Amino acid sequence: MNSRELNDRAAWLRGPSAECSVVPERLEQPWRLVLLGPPGVGKGTQARLLTQRLGACHLSTGDVFREAKTRNERQQTLAMSAALNSMRRGTLVPEAIVWQVIRERASCLRCQGGFVLDGFPRTLAQAKVLKLLLENERLSLDAVVNYELPLAEIVSRLSGRRTCQSCKAIFHLTAQPPRTEGVCDLCCGALYQREDDRPEAITVRLDAYQSSTAPLIQFCRNLGLLTPVVASGSPEEIFRRTATALEKRRKFDSESSVTSRKSARVWSPEMLACCGNESGNGKNF
Ligand code: AMP
Repeated sequence: MNSRELNDRAAWLRGPSAECSVVPERLEQPWRLVLLGPPGVGKGTQARLLTQRLGACHLSTGDVFREAKTRNERQQTLAMSAALNSMRRGTLVPEAIVWQVIRERASCLRCQGGFVLDGFPRTLAQAKVLKLLLENERLSLDAVVNYELPLAEIVSRLSGRRTCQSCKAIFHLTAQPPRTEGVCDLCCGALYQREDDRPEAITVRLDAYQSSTAPLIQFCRNLGLLTPVVASGSPEEIFRRTATALEKRRKFDSESSVTSRKSARVWSPEMLACCGNESGNGKNF
């Protein structure tokens, strides 16, 4: 895995009318990944490391909503104001708004460098939208990486997390402090605590994860896509574990009968229905 120049994700963050500053190189076998795991488990940090080394694009729905926050109120649509209110409370953004955001940015899924989806899908209904989009594009996922960490460690990570206002790099007050307090090591931007990393929002977010996102894990396991990774230790350690798991998976994929495995990976109605039953949401599919 090599280090590559990151693009500014303009098309993702600002919508399809914006152009990315760096077009990812065309890859023979681009990686198309979904990252799952509770808030604070380090998905954002791992997504950055993965995109740097895989040449893929980091597609975070949370970053799209945070980007909207930087626009002045007159530039914000009603949908975006509603999304920002949900974010502040720590609850999930209403499905219709998330779907609109994703549909508008569907071209990012076709990116020739591949993608790392971080924060989407978060519900089974969103998984259905992703299924349709990928099927329409004749694309399939390579893996769904599921980061696992005990609850106490998650809470400590979230409350100590600080994010760069301009480049979105992530630090931690004790585990990964910046060289100068409050200043980003990478771009000298100001570091801030996300509103949804405050204690009152953390509990709400963990509850939202438990009820809406955890059922996805079984869903992805049934698809044969789930790749569990223990998320303890330093970001580099977690990254190495992720890279090893992904390389093993790709090696296994190329050695096994590709056709039958690929067909198992289509997000088929049977799979969706089966997981829906487990979560009580089956009727949506
Ligand atoms: P994240 O940066 O992924 O932790 O997302 C921050 C916040 O953005 C979440 O707590 C939600 O309020 C909102 N959000 C991000 N992605 C989604 C999504 N796929 N569905 C619903 N809400 C989302």
